[in-house]
Amino acid sequence: MGAKSPEMAPKTAHSRDGVGRLVAVHAHPDDETLATGALLATWSESGGHATVISCTRGEQGEVIGAELAHLEGNAAALAAHREVELVSALQALGVAEHHFLDQLPTVLPEAAAAHGPAARYADSGMAWRPGQKTGTAAAPENLPADAFVAANLDEAAKRLAAFLDQTEPDVVVTYDPGGGYGHPDHVRTHDVTMRAVELAQRAQPVVLWASMGPEELRQQRRDLAHAPWAQASAQQHDLEIPDPDGDLPALANADRPVAIAVTVRPVLTNMLAALTAHGTQVHAITRSTETENATLLGSYSLSNNVLAGIGTTESYSWGRSDSEERARHLRWPRYIDEAQKSTPAEDGSSGPTGNTSTGERSKMLLTKPPWFRCFGIVVLGVVIGLIGSLMFRSVPPWGLVVSCATLLSASVLARAWAQAPGVISLGLGWVVMVQIMALEGPGGDVIIPADPIGYVWVFGGVVFVLAAMLAPRSWFRDDEFVGS
Ligand SMILES: [Zn+2]
Repeated sequence: MGAKSPEMAPKTAHSRDGVGRLVAVHAHPDDETLATGALLATWSESGGHATVISCTRGEQGEVIGAELAHLEGNAAALAAHREVELVSALQALGVAEHHFLDQLPTVLPEAAAAHGPAARYADSGMAWRPGQKTGTAAAPENLPADAFVAANLDEAAKRLAAFLDQTEPDVVVTYDPGGGYGHPDHVRTHDVTMRAVELAQRAQPVVLWASMGPEELRQQRRDLAHAPWAQASAQQHDLEIPDPDGDLPALANADRPVAIAVTVRPVLTNMLAALTAHGTQVHAITRSTETENATLLGSYSLSNNVLAGIGTTESYSWGRSDSEERARHLRWPRYIDEAQKSTPAEDGSSGPTGNTSTGERSKMLLTKPPWFRCFGIVVLGVVIGLIGSLMFRSVPPWGLVVSCATLLSASVLARAWAQAPGVISLGLGWVVMVQIMALEGPGGDVIIPADPIGYVWVFGGVVFVLAAMLAPRSWFRDDEFVGS
């Protein structure tokens, strides 16, 4: 049973916002939410078409809670239950289409002839490497007979490639070569996806890998250890708080530059609902009670009972060397920030490390000044410089008070709207206009004469602009202005 109708949605023209098609390839039900939940929700929210392909049904997973504990070890029953959880999670994320890889609506005549009926891909199971409950997973000692890791790579990849060719997605997203945290099915999912993109004839998608900077993850862990709400959750559910200096999973080990950063806050409610839907896999789902300067929006735990954080951004690196260039021609949804200067990773290998660490890069992304707004702000500065200079002498001192108050309000607005570059733009437009108005006209007239009230307008204005520029960042809630 697929989560949605097994028919493929036809490839149609782009959505109302011009956002195209995205295909996310995952190993098990729950990974779509854990690894790419914010991207899927944001994509769907903007009217784009999102498809999730799950390679297995997660039948070897551990089960949280006594109520459903009987499902653990019963592969068929757990698979059926997790499919139901998946349907509800996909609904929460707004995902339009879902398929299991072994049921993709693409029948390959040559594969069918060569291999008989389509193979079924089963969860391979996993074991934590000794002493690495927060680090890296490994293959278990006894693999199930139809384990996905043992499936023929090209056969699985051709199945996916045919689907990609029929739907021609703009973006394909999966894990990094380390499979996120090393689960053998995740590594296999990565390999199959990358091979499928290679085999595809028509589809030429941007490829993204879910990844995270090591410093970003360590900072999240430090914040988890200090946030009172997270500590309360850890205590209530008897969870281990991960060591910020401990082992890091593969997704945070390579330090690839962040290519795409998705702002999580606008879709946090969807993500929490999707996490909650995966009740046998995720528990202790907690929303942060902090509203100011929060680096974490919430927390949860998997069956390993280790506290994990929900960060303010979900980051991705380029999965192919041509992805950055292709990405430039795509329309990205609001709340997805594309870094223009990151270095693309080579196919199938770790990307080169840029000079900027991933953590810093994603902070830059969050505060990246929207330059196109700055042009409008320059014009605003010119207008305020012109009208203010014409009226500051009228009805003393009220003309001056109104001119100064207008400039101060505009400076604050510019800072909130486009950070410091916004204030600089406003100041630039205003200064240029005031300089012009202070020049002597053809008849010897000067609109801003060198008298006390003229000095207040010129130098007072400079003080107002500087004040708005130097005010503490915490006074301005940048995220409320994103995309407005
Ligand atoms: Zn998984």
